[in-house]
Amino acid sequence: MGDVIPFKRPKISEKHKGNTLCRSGFHKWLIITSQQFDVMQGKLVTVYQCKRCGKLKRVLK
Ligand SMILES: [Zn+2]
Repeated sequence: MGDVIPFKRPKISEKHKGNTLCRSGFHKWLIITSQQFDVMQGKLVTVYQCKRCGKLKRVLK
């Protein structure tokens, strides 16, 4: 008797964990194009895309 059943709050944050990380700047980068020549920069760039939110970034080599 007297058992205390802890109230479980639904973890809403779990569902949107990926987006929260993305908004915080922690993207899941995957290489889309490796060593692509960027005419504007005149240099080789590697294109990354976030697995979660689809954001693109280019990194100069
Ligand atoms: Zn992202």
